[in-house]
Amino acid sequence: MKTLLPTSTAGSLPKPSWLAKPETLWSPWKLHGEELKEGKQDALRLTLDNQDRAGIDIVSDGEQTRQHFVTTFIEHLSGVDFENRQTVRIRNRYDASVPSVVGAVTREKPVFVEDARFLRTLTKKRIKWALPGPMTMIDTLHDAHYKSREKLAWEFAGILNQEARELEAAGVDIIQFDEPAFNVFFDEVNDWGIATLEKAIEGLKCETAVHICYGYGIQANIDWKNALGAEWRQYEEIFPKLQRSNIDLISLECQNSRVPMDLIELIRGKKVMVGAIDVATNTVETPEEVASTLRKALQFVDADKLYPSTNCGMAPLSRHVATGKLNALGAGAEIVRKELSV
Ligand SMILES: [Zn+2]
Repeated sequence: MKTLLPTSTAGSLPKPSWLAKPETLWSPWKLHGEELKEGKQDALRLTLDNQDRAGIDIVSDGEQTRQHFVTTFIEHLSGVDFENRQTVRIRNRYDASVPSVVGAVTREKPVFVEDARFLRTLTKKRIKWALPGPMTMIDTLHDAHYKSREKLAWEFAGILNQEARELEAAGVDIIQFDEPAFNVFFDEVNDWGIATLEKAIEGLKCETAVHICYGYGIQANIDWKNALGAEWRQYEEIFPKLQRSNIDLISLECQNSRVPMDLIELIRGKKVMVGAIDVATNTVETPEEVASTLRKALQFVDADKLYPSTNCGMAPLSRHVATGKLNALGAGAEIVRKELSV
C-alpha cells in the first residue's frame, strides 16, 4: 500500500565535518582521490541512515557528493571554462564568481549516475534525485559563446534529459529539477522556462518534480525576502502555466514564509511537496507546527497528492539542527496521517 503523505527533503543535507567544512555553502572537500571517493560513499550511507531514522519515506543523496547544486553538474560538461571566471549577478540578488561558457556545451559522460546506482543498492525506499533546472543553470554562468539565455537553456535541457534518462535507468523514482530562478524571471519562465524544463523530462517514465523556492537561509536571500513585502505572490505568475505542464510534482516553500497558501489552488491537480520546515532558522520546528502547516495545505491539496517536505536544502545548517528538523518533519507528517486515517 502507498504511504499517505510520503515525506522527503527538498535537497541538500549537511555533510560530515571530515568530508567538508560544515555550515558553509560551496565548502571545499577535505579529502582527495580514492579517499574522497570512499568518503563520499560513507557520507551517503550516513545521510541515508539519518533520513531512515527520521521516518523519511522518499530518500535522497542529500547532495553529499556535490559541492554545489548547480556548479558541480556544470563542472562535468565540456564547453565551460572554470579557469576563466567572471562575476555575475545571480538571480538579480548577489554577485558570484562563476565559470564561462566558451564553446558548445556537451555532456561527454554521466555526472551523477554512478552515485545514484550506489544509493539504489543501499535502500529499497523510493529515491528522489535533484538536478539543476536549465534556467537556474544559465543564471549561474557567464555566457561568452551562445550569447542568448534561451539558446543556452535549450542546450542544457537536452543535456539534462540525457542525464535524467540514465538516472531513471539507474533506479531513481523521482527526478527533481531545482529552479529557484523561476521565482525571479517570470516573463522568461512563461516564454521558454517551462518549455525547456519539459524538454529536460522528455521521454521519462519516472515521476518528475520542480523545486521553486526562496533559497537557502543566506543573508542575500534573507534581505531579498525582507524586500518582498507582506505577501509573497511570486508563485502566482508562473503557476497557471506550470499547472498545464507535464511536470508531476511541484516543490514549494510554505513554512514561515509569506506565501499565501491559497496560491496552491492554482496548481490543483498536481502533486505538491509542501515545505513544512524552515531552512533559514536554527529553531527546530515542533511536530505540531509541522502538522499545522500540513493541515493548512490540505485545504488546497488533496491528501493523496500532498508530499510533506522542507522549504529548501539544509546544507548550511549544523547536522544537529538538520537532524532535529528531519525528525520533526517525520513526526509532524505522522500526526496528520493519523488524523486522516480516522
Ligand atoms: Zn530551494
